[in-house]
Amino acid sequence: MHHLRVLAISVLMSEQISSHRLFVDHPLLADAVIVCLPTQAHYLLNVLRLGEGALLPVFNGVEGEWVAQLHLHGRKKCTLQILRQTREQSSGPAIHYLFAPLKKARLDYMAQKATELGVASLQPVLTRRTNVARLKTERLEANIIEAAEQCGILRVPQLRECCKLEALLAGWDTELPLIFCDEAAPVKSPLEALSALQKDTALAVLVGPEGGFDEQERALLLAQPFVHALSLGPRIMRADTAAVAILALANAVLFDWR
Ligand code: SAH
Repeated sequence: MHHLRVLAISVLMSEQISSHRLFVDHPLLADAVIVCLPTQAHYLLNVLRLGEGALLPVFNGVEGEWVAQLHLHGRKKCTLQILRQTREQSSGPAIHYLFAPLKKARLDYMAQKATELGVASLQPVLTRRTNVARLKTERLEANIIEAAEQCGILRVPQLRECCKLEALLAGWDTELPLIFCDEAAPVKSPLEALSALQKDTALAVLVGPEGGFDEQERALLLAQPFVHALSLGPRIMRADTAAVAILALANAVLFDWR
């Protein structure tokens, strides 16, 4: 009797699909077998404590979401057998997030929030007062992936190459409006400013470093026909706060929070 009960429970268990999604950098098609990276094996076996036969959603950012089945190979190795697609690939808001890199914790936070707020890309911008020497892209990527797994998105934001503000503006596609979050702009409703733009149409937003923009940068930005300076109210927020504020407003006024 006992082993029948165990079998029944294991069948029940294996039918449940884990609520934790896993990003895999691998083509997704039926019967493909993915060898888990050590970090993924640790997460699946030790953190989620999944066992042989467990089912979990996997996605790769381009081919929708699939159910995969976990197979153990010893205590530390595991593979994922791809079973069937459960969600078609979907896109998200065409928001391109430009930011001056911040220090560790704030940068981690900002990368996660920008991902949860549906940005299509993250573009690090070097400005005169950016106080970060070398941008740790692996760390940024890891934060983006972790946030993507948690918030259920299928399109993973693209992390672009770091670029100086002047160079970025010089090569700018003038069809793409750039919302310049200007801490020195006169207070005026950001809702009105954003409502003037085309809904569901590509948009870039720029948030400066902790030290803010200097006068030359502000003058250069305000001289561009595609730039729209925007105030986020009378209080000077931390850059990571401003990121959440502007992305929430953009989603609510122009993209898929409507
Ligand atoms: N240290 C600077 C402020 C920098 S705040 C100073 O005291 O002037 C960091 C970035 O967040 C700014 O460059 C801007 O992009 C954004 N930001 C913060 N508060 C803002 C506000 N009230 N309006 C518009 N942008 C703001």
